[in-house]
Amino acid sequence: AKAAGRNNYQFFTERMNLAAARHFELESSLRGALAREEFALYFQPIMCTETRRPRALEVLLRWRRDGALVGPDEFIPILEESGMIMEVGEWVIRSACVQAMQWQREGLEVVPLAINLSARQFTHQGLVDSIRAIVDETGIAPGLVEFEITETALMQHGGQTLEILRQINAIGMCLSIDDFGTGYSSLAYLKRFPVRKIKIDRAFVRELEASTEDRAIVAAVMALANSLQLSVVAEGVETEGQYALLRSFGCQYAQGYLFARPLPAEQVASLLAG
Ligand code: C2E
Ligand code: CA
Ligand code: CA
Ligand code: CA
Repeated sequence: AKAAGRNNYQFFTERMNLAAARHFELESSLRGALAREEFALYFQPIMCTETRRPRALEVLLRWRRDGALVGPDEFIPILEESGMIMEVGEWVIRSACVQAMQWQREGLEVVPLAINLSARQFTHQGLVDSIRAIVDETGIAPGLVEFEITETALMQHGGQTLEILRQINAIGMCLSIDDFGTGYSSLAYLKRFPVRKIKIDRAFVRELEASTEDRAIVAAVMALANSLQLSVVAEGVETEGQYALLRSFGCQYAQGYLFARPLPAEQVASLLAG
């Protein structure tokens, strides 16, 4: 038993070293990724449940590394820890606005872009200044930009956050609460923030058809959101059954593979046109 224990331990430390090495390698190649133009934006439509037409596009960051596309779950935490998220986050906002203006010039009917913000970004006053500068530079209508902030990130931060979110709101950009239901907040508390929408986390949508509990949770969130005049987006909608249930609950927006995967800009153009 003792030998087995040591083997487990060795196995564990080897795995740890491997993870640390991978982390280090990722961090150093991320340092140059912006300059090498390896980041790209993908867009996933958020559908209006009534019309089944795109009502907004969520902006999702991708990293093209040695020919492979790396997803944000792997590298956003590293960008956050190292502080690189400030610069990359600003790049995301600017590039999304430039893209929206490009679509507009092509005569497409542009819908609002929903951009994800990390906690580190919205606790920093520089964010508001850079948003203002980007609006000036690109000429984008502020109503075409929305920001998504996770429930957990919001709960971690206090007074200064509220002030920054108010300033963003004053520019004319809406805020949504992302991954709702996975943190420990109450909707009543969240009402203190200038928030217009909540996004119900995929975890509650996944088993909507099979689970009475998940149906009860989603129905309760809908009722509370309605009474607080917040719109609701359901994330991770993959089946017609989930979609039908969400519609029956009065959920206004839905996003997921049922409608479209995150798409590169070229493919979004046809979605907006058609
Ligand atoms: P999120 O904001 O919750 O984004 C939704 C994620 O769910 C995306 O993963 C999307 O591709 C995925 N998804 C959409 N529909 C479905 C579905 O029907 N089924 C399933 N299984 N998944 C679906 P993605 O693109 O890998 O992004 C992961 C997370 O990375 C995002 O979660 C967001 O928190 C973060 N992220 C992405 N882009 C940015 C960014 O520009 N800045 C920051 N700070 N975070 C970002
Ligand atoms: Ca999001
Ligand atoms: Ca989410
Ligand atoms: Ca998420």
